[in-house]
Amino acid sequence: MSCQPIQRRILAALLICAIGLAVEGAAFSGELDADASEQTQADIERAQQLHDSGNRYWILKTVGSIALLTFWIGSGLSARLRDSLLRRTGQGLRVVIIYWLLFVGLCSFFWLVYAFFAGHLRLHAFGLSKQSFGRWLSQAGKEIALLAIVGASVIWIPYWLHRKYRRTWWLLTGIGLAALVVITTLVTPIWIDPLFFDFVQLEDRELEEKLLRIAARCGIEADRIYQINVSADSRAVNAYVNGIFGTARIVIWDTTLRGLRHDQIEFIMAHEMGHYVLGHVYTAVMWACLAAVVATGLAVAICSQIIKKLGKRLKIRGTDDVAAMPLFMLIALLMWLVSTPITLMVSRHTEHEADVFGLEVTQDNAVAESTFLRMRKINLSVARHGWFYKLFRSTHPSSGERLAFVRSYRPWEKDQPLRFGKYIDP
Ligand SMILES: [Zn+2]
Repeated sequence: MSCQPIQRRILAALLICAIGLAVEGAAFSGELDADASEQTQADIERAQQLHDSGNRYWILKTVGSIALLTFWIGSGLSARLRDSLLRRTGQGLRVVIIYWLLFVGLCSFFWLVYAFFAGHLRLHAFGLSKQSFGRWLSQAGKEIALLAIVGASVIWIPYWLHRKYRRTWWLLTGIGLAALVVITTLVTPIWIDPLFFDFVQLEDRELEEKLLRIAARCGIEADRIYQINVSADSRAVNAYVNGIFGTARIVIWDTTLRGLRHDQIEFIMAHEMGHYVLGHVYTAVMWACLAAVVATGLAVAICSQIIKKLGKRLKIRGTDDVAAMPLFMLIALLMWLVSTPITLMVSRHTEHEADVFGLEVTQDNAVAESTFLRMRKINLSVARHGWFYKLFRSTHPSSGERLAFVRSYRPWEKDQPLRFGKYIDP
């Protein structure tokens, strides 16, 4: 049986996927750890299985997305859908919006199947989820609806810019994308997150008082701390910072409030206050905006070259052809893949800074150590990440690395200056 070049490429991509899945077990495993005093041997083995299965599903998702997009463009389906829409609706920008909605619909089908196995079933199998199937489906449905609606309201803009400003449309699109990053970060805590979860003031008054005392020492206003109720969905523990300007907030999961002691929660929240005070969200948004402009320019240049060479065969007429939309997505996905090791390195650096901050606020090494061990037990984390996880997935230093740091860092005992002392009232 003979193969067309594009189909050969899809087969090659699938082959890479198969090889990746086959070698995963041996190559990507994190190391076992002997000092996890809270974890039993069974916990350690289950954490290892969770880590490895996460890698397997990550490879499946990434290679599957590349294969799907390549097939969609290479098989001519994208061009055929464009022709069919043009016949039915004419030349207007509504073709772009309908194409987008149909494309999201198609991808959502594959994404739902993937998310059911990789998220819902897998987390239940490891005892980390409490979510019912109905609630999972409704949360996933909301995510898809949000993507379809927000996407449809902006996706036509680059095509409109292309018609009006033939030389600078890519730059204006990049700037528009950067604006979208800022707006999304701003409204996520107040408009998007509440669609999925309940946010309340801290229910434990005694704990709230303790946390507000720490917040005051770090110059953070009292109304910035929230509790998010996720216990209907998850057994894992976590806390986070998001939003900018008036919407910036520090949020703790209710599961964390139930699973950890007060002093451990104080350390976790001091870490989050570090993110807040050191402006990590603002730094991330700034880099994302810069990346949006540069990546748009690069994607348009690469896309133009591909269309110049293969446009006739793919039946794609130019960068302003709606049939080229999946080609842009494929290029964006590959650029994201190449840049991921660098962005993760930056993320791990900011997480380490927040650990330094948290420890300098609480100045209790034993509590910090017990917090990481408790979180490792509840979240089924491995002590050390394998090279593959570190390269493509690890946003935080491994639990083992964090433990080693909090055991040894104690400048206040040696009368040495604190790294973030200027942000913290004694
Ligand atoms: Zn953090």
